[in-house]
Amino acid sequence: MIVAKFGGSSLSDAKQFQNVRRILEAEPARQYIVVSAPGKRDDADQKVTDLLIACHQLAHKGEAIYPVYSVVEQRFAQIADALGLENYLNTELLDIGHAIQGGASHAFTASRGEYLSALLMAKWLDRPFVDAAALLRFAAGKLDEEATSQAVRRTLSSQEGAVIPGFYGSDGQGGIHVLSRGGSDTSAACIAAALDAELLEIWTDVTGFRAADPRIVPDAQYIASLTYRELRELSYMGASVLHEDAVFPVRTAGIPTSIRNTGNPLHPGTTITYHSQTRVPVVTGIAGKKGFSIIVLEKNRMNDEVGFARKVLAVFERHGISFEHLPTGIDALCVMVMTSAFAPKREAVLQEIHEAVSPDSVHTEDRIALVACVGVGMFRQYGTAARLITAVSEQGIGIRTMLQAPSELSIILGVDEENLDKTVNAIYDAFIRT
Ligand code: ASP
Repeated sequence: MIVAKFGGSSLSDAKQFQNVRRILEAEPARQYIVVSAPGKRDDADQKVTDLLIACHQLAHKGEAIYPVYSVVEQRFAQIADALGLENYLNTELLDIGHAIQGGASHAFTASRGEYLSALLMAKWLDRPFVDAAALLRFAAGKLDEEATSQAVRRTLSSQEGAVIPGFYGSDGQGGIHVLSRGGSDTSAACIAAALDAELLEIWTDVTGFRAADPRIVPDAQYIASLTYRELRELSYMGASVLHEDAVFPVRTAGIPTSIRNTGNPLHPGTTITYHSQTRVPVVTGIAGKKGFSIIVLEKNRMNDEVGFARKVLAVFERHGISFEHLPTGIDALCVMVMTSAFAPKREAVLQEIHEAVSPDSVHTEDRIALVACVGVGMFRQYGTAARLITAVSEQGIGIRTMLQAPSELSIILGVDEENLDKTVNAIYDAFIRT
């Protein structure tokens, strides 16, 4: 049994609803369908969820929601009409409009895009609609995984299949709660985990993960399979197709996730599994991120001074700055942080470091980019680091720092920001291009 989630871009118009039906007809195991609210049809368009949030703001200020709410009504009416389901959502749309104007909560309002989208999809597919308010349970504003799992099993296991709205749930007393933006992935992952699905499919507008950002390597190949840990490394470094946090329930349950393209359903996309599936390539993917600063401290005989790093890190902690990496030398310590977090507090942090550990010298450097080469097989192969350094150096790029933890599955290079694209290309050519 497969749980299939369709994102906003996969539901943006009637043609996409037709694509969804074809995808489901092609595989009867796709029984439970989780849907987002209709997304953008093109760059100039607006997401239904954004329109609804704007309606809530208008109602909150005591203004008429109609100018914006009518756009929501039109979006749904256009889809319904084109599918031959004229007037199907009229009463619901009217009631919801009144509720929002009458002061309904932010969460209720924001969640209505998914609610309406699922109602329409259920009718279009002729499958039962099950409200997410009966499935996803929140306690103290947070998703209650255990209660959710029980509610999902109780409600859905007797059902052959269903269409379920993503993004929201309830506190059990009827109060609606929403997940963070883009949260329908998590809704689907909760349902897949509770029902012990064989697979979670995330249908979207891209054909899976690519081995590098196509804005940097235009012909970067698609990655057929990836582990959850590799996904985490790549998304930490900025790859944005799917964040591992969003699908934590299936990762914990050991259920694979597949990223598929609604516009190109024959492409197998990327499958993410707990354990590596393939004959492991040395580097699975490369991702890079700008915006790091390094603070380099030097002090003679630093290595003898117990507690030196702790005192330095306590300064960052007091200022609420989390450190990203901590490369050290014998008499040098380098704290790597996001510039956006560090820059506003730079003077105070440096001053307090002086007071805390009296270093011989401290200097900071901004505009550092990190490039991560990720691959579970990297350390089983001799000479990976040597090949990596050679490939980058041959392009005349200076490596500012290099990070490799023995148990990890990535090597991270620090380079000047202007060298980011060149570095990614050099590594791609050396390890992935065939
Ligand atoms: N519709 C919601 C959003 O725009 C949730 C989702 O699509 O996952 O964030």
